[in-house]
Amino acid sequence: KQFLREIPKVELHAHLNGSLNIESIKQLAEELYGEQTKEFAALCKRFIKFEEGAKMNDCFEKFGFVHELTATKRGLQRATELVIRDFAADNVIYVELRTTPKSNEKMSRRDYLQTVIDAIKSASKQYKIMVKLLPSINRGEPLAVAEETVALAVEFAQTEPDLIVGIDFSGNPNLGKFSDFTAVLSLARNNGLQLAVHCGEVDNPREIQEMLKFGMSRCGHGTYLTEADYAQLKEKNIPIECCLTSNVKSGTVANFNDHHFRQLMAADVPRVICTDDCGVFDTTLSDEFHWAMESFGLSRSQCVDLTVEAMKHSFATPQEKRIMQLLITERAK
Ligand code: IMP
Repeated sequence: KQFLREIPKVELHAHLNGSLNIESIKQLAEELYGEQTKEFAALCKRFIKFEEGAKMNDCFEKFGFVHELTATKRGLQRATELVIRDFAADNVIYVELRTTPKSNEKMSRRDYLQTVIDAIKSASKQYKIMVKLLPSINRGEPLAVAEETVALAVEFAQTEPDLIVGIDFSGNPNLGKFSDFTAVLSLARNNGLQLAVHCGEVDNPREIQEMLKFGMSRCGHGTYLTEADYAQLKEKNIPIECCLTSNVKSGTVANFNDHHFRQLMAADVPRVICTDDCGVFDTTLSDEFHWAMESFGLSRSQCVDLTVEAMKHSFATPQEKRIMQLLITERAK
């Protein structure tokens, strides 16, 4: 575990609000409400079950907690900084954060994105970590919201081309239809944004085919893909972002041993190891590598190779990739 914690790591699939761990949620609540307040006491009461080891369905409640805490600019800014701090503490040298811009009476989607961008800029310097942002389309929300998100992403990418690098397509896979979003995703792609698409998280063969035909830069989860689908990804060099703990805890994969990561390794399909929501699923990128070593017998050098693979599939600039390569090889020696 020490080795895994120490090697420089590259995180390509992390949802901002899902990545705030329990300690950081607590710290954020304390900072926002004050330790002696009723609000803080009420929140701590709701925390107890997580501290005692939450059951699966409880995990999703954590999204709700965090969304309450990040509903103001101050909360969102601090949450972003804490998430970046926690990745850096796990020796993650590069992270792509995804987040769904939200609006409420205090904050527009534009404010939301601007707040996250500002927080990323200061925290990435403070914690010496490279950070990129992928605004997310939540497939469960109306198309008009996706259109606003993409328009904002395209606009912000003009001034922040090295920070806003793509669009994530995510949300509850049982809601919404991918085909409704292809026009807005094409608009993003035609404006130079990369696409990271949650694909095949549930068994929906028709949608999987639509997504593969449409194309993507990276495939999120890919749990229900067939061997023929794998062959397509391999041919196009599209990696599957594997999130072991997330898939097992959310029940789309029975256990670590049965995770499709095994087949991807055997068939040499591009794949990367990611956390998804390290707060919600109570994991870290080092832990994910640990489970991969335990379950699939990965050697240390295979873990380093997977990090190099993640670096290659990242949306970083060539210069940033060179820096990562240097950091990884130096440490691996
Ligand atoms: P946020 O976009 O920063 O609020 O991060 C949390 C959101 O990411 C959730 O509300 C979902 O929309 C999305 N998300 C997180 N994990 C998953 C997943 O495993 N599949 C699909 N969507 C997800």
